[in-house]
Amino acid sequence: MSPMTAEPASNPPIERRPFESETEDVMQGAARWEVKVHEHGLIALVDAMPRLVPRGQSADAAIVQAARVSYGQGTKQVNEDRGLIRYLMRHRHTTPFEMVEFKFHVVMPIFVARQWIRHRTANVNEYSARYSVVPDRFYTPTIENVRAQSAVNRQGGEQPVDVGTAQQFLDYLQRCQDQYEQYQQLLDKGVSRELARIGLPVNVYTEWYWKCDLHNTLHFLSLRMDEHAQREIRDYAAAMYALIRPIVPITCEAFEDYRLSAVTLSRLELEALRTGGTLASTNKREQAEWEAKRARLGL
Ligand SMILES: Cc1cc2nc3c(=O)[nH]c(=O)nc-3n(C[C@H](O)[C@H](O)[C@H](O)COP(=O)(O)OP(=O)(O)OC[C@H]3O[C@@H](n4cnc5c(N)ncnc54)[C@H](O)[C@@H]3O)c2cc1C
Repeated sequence: MSPMTAEPASNPPIERRPFESETEDVMQGAARWEVKVHEHGLIALVDAMPRLVPRGQSADAAIVQAARVSYGQGTKQVNEDRGLIRYLMRHRHTTPFEMVEFKFHVVMPIFVARQWIRHRTANVNEYSARYSVVPDRFYTPTIENVRAQSAVNRQGGEQPVDVGTAQQFLDYLQRCQDQYEQYQQLLDKGVSRELARIGLPVNVYTEWYWKCDLHNTLHFLSLRMDEHAQREIRDYAAAMYALIRPIVPITCEAFEDYRLSAVTLSRLELEALRTGGTLASTNKREQAEWEAKRARLGL
């Protein structure tokens, strides 16, 4: 048998069609849109897909275009675009939202990056502290942001501690500088970068490129803009949302209406609402969450 040989790729003719109408750049010709976060951090939108859209439209157009492949010509009225996107959002027809993508450059503390990286549907390329020296940047909250442990939420804290304790906490963080000096000394003595870095604290900054489609970006935002998320990652999520909102304004409006500011009721909660009775659950957390929803509903 003769060995398999790879056939050279043929060169099929490529038909290059111009845009059907005039286009504009969704990022208005900018190389990046950047928002500072805390003292040393940032999030920047460095690219978007689609980058070019018909003049006067937003990247929402790519969602509508994809949806029409499945729904056909019946939805072709321009004034139906908003209605179609809101329908898709309400009915969780998610794949058209995957047709829009964003690429961000993010500079954030490692403890934020650890939470962020749990979102597995993005493409990530991170700064290598094996290859390069870690810069001297540490996250330190402002004194009024030194939060006390919450009594009700085991994972968080919102209220500030007293000023004396806050100052003690900030003094404790000052040790980062000593650790950084030792890191540099050990690098100077020839310790490898991949080992020297392991003594650095988790408030040191890392950076990465993070590319994600709109559907999964909204999933990230719904979790990380929520009040249950840690405040520091919430600050990044809010900045990310500010960056994408002008690119996909119709989708963001629908996201706010049907996800971000919506209230979901369980079967038990619906039953309590219908009968005017109490929630048929003895679970204290479920009771507390129902009370919070009742307050939001103005009941
Ligand atoms: C307030 C808060 C507290 C948290 N606390 C903790 C904690 O204490 N400990 C902890 O470990 N994590 C914690 N997390 C992380 C959380 O459990 C999720 O890992 C994180 O929010 C990412 O969510 P996701 O998996 O839905 O997102 P993504 O990874 O973006 O995935 C999106 C969706 O794709 C699907 N998917 C993606 N990859 C897979 C896969 N490999 N297999 C199956 N389905 C997949 C899932 O349906 C998933 O919902 C916390 C998150 C939040 C917001």
